[in-house]
Amino acid sequence: MVGIQWWLSGYDSQVHAFPSEQAGTEYGEALCNHSVPNSKITCTDEGRRCMACMLMVGDMLAEEFDPTWRAS
Ligand SMILES: [Zn+2]
Repeated sequence: MVGIQWWLSGYDSQVHAFPSEQAGTEYGEALCNHSVPNSKITCTDEGRRCMACMLMVGDMLAEEFDPTWRAS
């Protein structure tokens, strides 16, 4: 699973999930395809989280943690 950073976008004032491997690029592109220049990103997760990003991160977590462990 790729690392995720929850950062506040100055464009829509929502906290989006950005893949951390994008560090050093000029634009950040969130999982929901919201793209924002780095100068508009605040490195904080305080605020209202983007629902689309939350759902996508939830899907990634569900894949990482195989649910079949409950069967044993
Ligand atoms: Zn988002």
